[in-house]
Order: sequence, then structure tokens, then C-alpha cells
Amino acid sequence: MFKIDTSCKTMPHTPSAEGDVMHSEWTKETISSWLRTDSAETLRKLWSHADAVRKEHVGEAVHFRGLIEFSNYCVRDCLYCGLRGSREELQRYRMSADEIVEAALAAYDYGYGTVVLQSGQDHGFSTEWLADIIRRIKNKTPLAVTLSVGERSPQEFREWREAGADRYLLRFETSDNTLYHRVHPHRATDQHTRLDLLRILRNSGYEIGSGCMIGMPGQSYESLAEDLLLFRKLDLDMIGVGPFIAHPDTPLGAQTAPPALEEQDQVPSSELMTYKVIALARLLCPDANIPSTTALATLNKPDGREFGLERGANVVMPNVTPPAYRQNYEIYPAKACITEDAAACRECMKNRIKSIGREVGQGRGDAKRKESHVAPADADIRGNTE
Ligand code: SAH
Repeated sequence: MFKIDTSCKTMPHTPSAEGDVMHSEWTKETISSWLRTDSAETLRKLWSHADAVRKEHVGEAVHFRGLIEFSNYCVRDCLYCGLRGSREELQRYRMSADEIVEAALAAYDYGYGTVVLQSGQDHGFSTEWLADIIRRIKNKTPLAVTLSVGERSPQEFREWREAGADRYLLRFETSDNTLYHRVHPHRATDQHTRLDLLRILRNSGYEIGSGCMIGMPGQSYESLAEDLLLFRKLDLDMIGVGPFIAHPDTPLGAQTAPPALEEQDQVPSSELMTYKVIALARLLCPDANIPSTTALATLNKPDGREFGLERGANVVMPNVTPPAYRQNYEIYPAKACITEDAAACRECMKNRIKSIGREVGQGRGDAKRKESHVAPADADIRGNTE
């Protein structure tokens, strides 16, 4: 077992296979070096340290979060996302309350401990409508309920928390302020940044999850290193990262503009880079719940999920959205697992977990509670708040 050194004050700026690979005082430069390395030996060491830290801190269990993509309506116009409001050719849907509760009950019957209710930023349903769905799920099952419904008001967060929601996912997407505002157009009604909202969510009693996309056009190694440092500053309970996958019907995916960065400065949206970020996230935030995401499985359908789980991840998110809706939740094209029904998806994931010698998690798979979950002060958080 590798010994994790948290005492050393200086770290080499170039990673070496021999050196320590985890340190609480990593700098942006150190992390950038890890992101740039292509030494097979160094990477082998990184995977095995991340796997050891995962095992020590969150154990062998792989937790299942049943994902219900309940609406693809979206008021935002993010340049990277296939659900963007101005994409007229996408057929929009919103599942009924009964369909959502039914999908949650199916997830419970499959033995999952959590359901994730995800949608575009849909302002076509009321706060009370979603609160009622949360109450119905909580009354009928012991499931943990995670929300991932975009940027909403503090009052809505409170009402959904009072209805029983446990966790909230809101990726900050990139910590680079300029890039963030370029790809995530501001709306006149926005009152808070995503980082403000994460702090509000934490203070409302949610477990919070955030993350970034890897290899968005314009993302430099230094900015991705800042993203990783921000995971740590935010003291996240859950970290979701995945490769940027170009959607041809979006401005960023169509790549009509000249590249914003020189090739050597641009982070590739590759499978390898995704594993590096998962492993580094595990080393920086040893207790976090980290999924091996569908975006990763989309790049490597046969083995992507397993590799993610062997390089730091401890969560999978099987889709329990009724198949008829799934193809229209088209954040990016050629998504993995789009045609399988929920039962097939569960069997496939269970077999994958067994094949790498891990266990299927029991119960809700809550975050390891920390002594205090006080949100960091404004001054401690740099990035897209500014
Ligand atoms: N409306 C919610 C849920 C968004 S979908 C919200 O805004 O939080 C969940 C995630 O999909 C996004 O946060 C983003 O990181 C990711 N995503 C969007 N477009 C993508 C693309 N083209 N490639 C890879 N991931 C993408």
C-alpha cells in the first residue's frame, strides 16, 4: 500500500514515477505537469495511487445512482450543450409527475440507493410540482434524492430541501472566468454565479457536487489545474468530470471559429485526460464520491467505465429514464447506453463491477461526513464568481 505523504512542503514540479503523487499543497504548476505527462511509468503510478486512496477512503463498494432525465427543456443557451434553448430541431419533452415517481420506484426495485432527477434548466414546471415529486419518492422509499436542474433561486433550493432532497449537482464547468462567460451566456435574470449557488446549497444542508468538462475548446492545462484545485477548495461531496464531446448542432461543437489556443496549450478532450483528472481529483479530495461517467463510457464503450472505476471513481449512474425519452436528452451525440432499458443497464453495470473485483454498494452511499461543512468564504474561491 502506498503511504500518502501529507507532511512534505515541497513537491517536484515534474511528476516522477518515484515521487509522492499526493500532496495537500500541490500547486497549479505541479498539477499541470501531471496533466501534461505522457510517461507510461508515471501514469501507471498515478492510477495505482488513486486506486489505493479510493480503496482506503471510500472502500470497495461502487454506488449506483439511478439517473432520471426528466425534462430536456432549457432556458439557457450554453454553447457546448445539445439541450440549449435555441436548438429548435430538438424534440422537447417533460415527463409527468407519475412517470418520474414510477421511474424512481423502479430504481428502488433494482436495489439502487439514490435517484438523480436531472433536467435542462426548465422553468416550465413549478417549485411545488418538483417538491411534490420529491415528497412522493421520499414517502414511498428510503432513496436519497439528488437534484441536477441547473441554476435556481435560493428559495427553491430551500423548498426542495424541505421536501426531502438530499444532494444537488451543479458543475461549474470551468474555473476560467473568461471561458465560462463565453460558453455560458449570462441571462438578465441571473442573480448568482454557480459558485455562489454551490455555497448557498451547502448552507441549505445539501451534499454538493460539482465538476468540469475536460477539453472544451479554449481550456488550457493551467485552467484545468485550477479546476482541480477548486474541487478541493469547495470541499465537494461529489465530483463529476467528463470529456467535452462535440455536438455538431452547437456553436462550440461545430467548431466554426478558429481555435482559441495553440495546439500545445489546448487540453485534449481525450479518454486518457479524463482518467488523469479522475485520478487527480481522487488524490486531492480522497473522501469524495466520484462517478465513472457516461461521457467517459461514450469514448470507450467496452472498457471506459471500468477504467474510470480503477483510476479513482467509486460511483456509476445507470440510466432509468424510459427509453422513449432518452434519445431526446441529447446533451452530446452517440451517448453510451442510450438504447438499453433500465434492467439491461443494471445487469451490464453489475457485471462490469464484478469483473474488476469490486462490490455493488448497499444503501444510499452518502458522503463521508466531515467535522464541519462550512462553505469557504468568498475570498477563498476564485474562478467564475468574479
Ligand atoms: N441543466 C443542468 C444539467 C446539465 S446536463 C445543469 O446545467 O446543471 C449535465 C452536464 O452535462 C453539464 O453540467 C455539462 O458539464 C455536461 N455537458 C453538457 N454538454 C456537454 C458536451 N457537449 N460534452 C460533454 N458534457 C457535456
